[in-house]
Amino acid sequence: SVVTRFAPSPTGFLHIGGARTALFNWLYAKKRGGKMLLRIEDTDRERSTEPAIAAILDGLKWLGLDWDGDVIYQFSRAARHREVAEALLASGKAYRCYATAEELTAMREKARAEGRTRLYDGLWRDRDPSEAPAGMKPTIRLKAPQTGETVIEDQVQGRVVWQNENLDDLVLLRGDGNPTYMLAVVVDDHDMRVTHVIRGDDHLINAARQKQIYDALEWDLPSMSHIPLIHGPDGSKLSKRHGALGVDAYRAMGYLPAALRNYLVRLGWSHGDQEIFSTQEMIDAFDLPAIGRSAARFDFAKLENLNGHYIRHADDRSLVAMFEDVLNYVPDRSHLKAKLNDTTRAQLLQAMPSLKERAKTLIELIDSSYFIFADRPLEVEPKAAALLTPENRQLIGRLRLALEPVSSWTSETTEAAMRAFAEANNLKLGAVAQPLRVALTGRTTSPGIFDVLAVLGRQECLARLGDQTP
Ligand code: GLU
Repeated sequence: SVVTRFAPSPTGFLHIGGARTALFNWLYAKKRGGKMLLRIEDTDRERSTEPAIAAILDGLKWLGLDWDGDVIYQFSRAARHREVAEALLASGKAYRCYATAEELTAMREKARAEGRTRLYDGLWRDRDPSEAPAGMKPTIRLKAPQTGETVIEDQVQGRVVWQNENLDDLVLLRGDGNPTYMLAVVVDDHDMRVTHVIRGDDHLINAARQKQIYDALEWDLPSMSHIPLIHGPDGSKLSKRHGALGVDAYRAMGYLPAALRNYLVRLGWSHGDQEIFSTQEMIDAFDLPAIGRSAARFDFAKLENLNGHYIRHADDRSLVAMFEDVLNYVPDRSHLKAKLNDTTRAQLLQAMPSLKERAKTLIELIDSSYFIFADRPLEVEPKAAALLTPENRQLIGRLRLALEPVSSWTSETTEAAMRAFAEANNLKLGAVAQPLRVALTGRTTSPGIFDVLAVLGRQECLARLGDQTP
């Protein structure tokens, strides 16, 4: 059965491209009733960090991309990688190379000067190891084929062909006994019984090298899918400004995991012109050959619109939970955490149907709910303060008197009282609503005024109106 894997290097956070790779692996495994494994490629001991590992696991969990079994740490498998290198040596498919750093540099310079891509000239390929300089620790190199072609039938890229004369005898094991990345990936994918490798096309050239290792080991190459990288809106390499951020940054910007998943699946993959996919629809429709060959372009506006759609369709209670979650991620809104209690949570829930209509991100949702958390006396924005003229303050005072007798306080009853008040005073509803909005929220824009009235409740509304009454 199908086994895919996501194999990030923990040298940084889980970036958006990595998240898409994980999603594609996850979808394909789900679609085929298989498994997705997670392998942390931590062989670069200097650049791999614990916080990066934590960020990757956390990001995947947040995105809802669960993996099967335990996390596999590549470094812990180094003994197995060495064993395979030794076996290749024993079978004559690899050899010890004693070339010095100076010799290697000279070879490289010569190759470059002659315009060759093969950098190693085969110095120790057929040489007797007894000629080796004493005390020198050799590397182990693959005895790669020197003629013919290396071919990959890639599910996305199609048939890709390399001339072997251009490929090097790869180092499998370094002089210090540490396996190279190329060897580790092959051995791990084989041992983990990976059937499908799905990864960025920056690894396409590695696929040729890995294929040569597979061949030497007489192992079957997994199915390969190299997906085009994500580019910026102008087609250039994705920059930070254009979205090259960690998944944690998207979380902090108030994107919903479901929206981000939906956005990511459409980056490079399509299914007719369908834009919105439930998770099950994605799983059902996903397939590797439908991934395009050209780079996808990241478009923040599209992501925002999609996120707005997901917010509007999300259930109110889960929005309250996500609202709370995002407060942990945005330092400049974290003061609101202290204000969350049973009362404000209930108010948020009550306001949600109205709040979620206009918010494109959870941050916008938070910001539009400010009136729930505002302390008395309200801070009034300058633009709104201009509306607090002496006449309007009078009006607010009279309106307060008109609202006071409303005992069962809902958006309907307060609306009825306000309409009656406007009529009795020969005023348009707007002429009453705007000063009321300023008195209740301190701003000139807010959710629907009757929703604001209902959510704040009788006591708080009368108190806020009282604050602005002369
Ligand atoms: N560790 C590699 C990366 O993060 C991925 C290797 C692979 O998928 O084969 O780019």
